[in-house]
Amino acid sequence: MEYDLVVIGGGPAGMLGAATAARRGLKVVLLEKNDRLGKKLAITGGGRCNFTNDSDGDAFSGNIVTNGKFLYSALNAFAGRHLVQLFKTLGLQARVEAGGRVFPASGQSGDVLKALQKHLQDSGVEVRYNSGVRQLLSRDGQAAGALLSDNSTVKSRSVLVATGGASYQQTGSSGDGYRFARRLGHTIVGPRPALVPLVVRDGWVRELQGLALDHVMLRVAAGGRAKAEQSGELLFTHFGLSGPAVLNLSSFLTKHFSFPLDLIIDLKPGWPGERLNKLLQDHLQQNPARSLKNTLSVILPQRLAPVIPVLAGVDGGRQGAQVTRGEREELVSALKNLAVTVTGTRSLNEAIVTGGGVSVKEINPSTLESKIIRGLYFAGEVIDVDALTGGFNLQIAFSTGYLSGSSAGAGR
Ligand SMILES: Cc1cc2nc3c(=O)[nH]c(=O)nc-3n(C[C@H](O)[C@H](O)[C@H](O)COP(=O)(O)OP(=O)(O)OC[C@H]3O[C@@H](n4cnc5c(N)ncnc54)[C@H](O)[C@@H]3O)c2cc1C
Repeated sequence: MEYDLVVIGGGPAGMLGAATAARRGLKVVLLEKNDRLGKKLAITGGGRCNFTNDSDGDAFSGNIVTNGKFLYSALNAFAGRHLVQLFKTLGLQARVEAGGRVFPASGQSGDVLKALQKHLQDSGVEVRYNSGVRQLLSRDGQAAGALLSDNSTVKSRSVLVATGGASYQQTGSSGDGYRFARRLGHTIVGPRPALVPLVVRDGWVRELQGLALDHVMLRVAAGGRAKAEQSGELLFTHFGLSGPAVLNLSSFLTKHFSFPLDLIIDLKPGWPGERLNKLLQDHLQQNPARSLKNTLSVILPQRLAPVIPVLAGVDGGRQGAQVTRGEREELVSALKNLAVTVTGTRSLNEAIVTGGGVSVKEINPSTLESKIIRGLYFAGEVIDVDALTGGFNLQIAFSTGYLSGSSAGAGR
């Protein structure tokens, strides 16, 4: 039997691509190598699935790290509001949280998966589990189907590769799509880890493991013309730094910088140096007999307070009244310009997304069809696109899934 479209990969991109094409009357089969769909989707957003972001247009694009322009058509064709509407028709209500992050109202990623499975079923997609694809089939520059790991073949007039990236490989995304695409003549950029924790040399950072700071500013000390800064939450870990601000910054670091590099942490971004100095002076004057480190714990988390004097080269045991103006300046400098040396990142497998992928130069942005092989389409993380945290990566997967599913098989 010949299908109109074979979709490889049952993640968000593949599921929406398959359902969209089937709704247009195409005969579609979805091949998933796991025994279930959306294994990665299930663990997104800490199990709550931050499936999109309610920002639109430029605000959304501002959160795309790589190839935002390429995604213009896909994001226009199927924006966050379309996804929320689709989910509503499938019985899934959405809830918007801080930063425009959109979650299912139930707080369960499983409910997003159920909605997508219902969409697949309602659309008449045939889903095959435990069906790992080994190779793509093509004939005379035209996609022709897929060869499975058990050596069986599935013939089709077009193929959508939605195999994801190469991170969190236990979920099934093990970079197969890169191999498929390369074999058919496509260029693969990278891949590199993105949204990935940073490994830091400084011992004091590791000693603070488990401590989270709500609002800090991070910036790269010196990077020639390249600039990178992010604000938000930071988490100290046993190897270095994580948390949303660090993950977001990492995507720029792995793209534009090389390691080791010096990172500057501003612990009090809302306080200009002079005001912070005055605040510190007031606290020290009000508590002249109290030790410096105890006074600092009024404006800093308990565990961080004794570390700052050490880094500033000031005796934390000194009484408030003994702290000199020069020492206060050193303390303010430590609070505003805390330097750490980043030696690298955690592995690609530990990255929330994979940066790099199938080069966008070889994909038509209006259809997501390959410019090399007719009838071959790409959607989701397998493409050289990535974005910051906040629901943007899943929206990209859904948007590119939708656009490829809308274009596949057209004109044949
Ligand atoms: C821990 C974690 C949390 C995250 N949280 C969020 C979040 O809250 N919000 C957000 O926007 N993004 C989040 N992301 C990123 C997001 O999950 C991905 O960007 C998104 O899942 C990519 O979708 P995709 O469909 O392209 O690929 P995937 O979801 O990776 O799906 C690819 C599918 O293809 C299958 N496959 C692979 N190779 C083959 C083969 N050879 N044959 C058959 N099937 C194959 C895989 O088994 C898999 O099911 C998170 C990622 C992680 C790891």
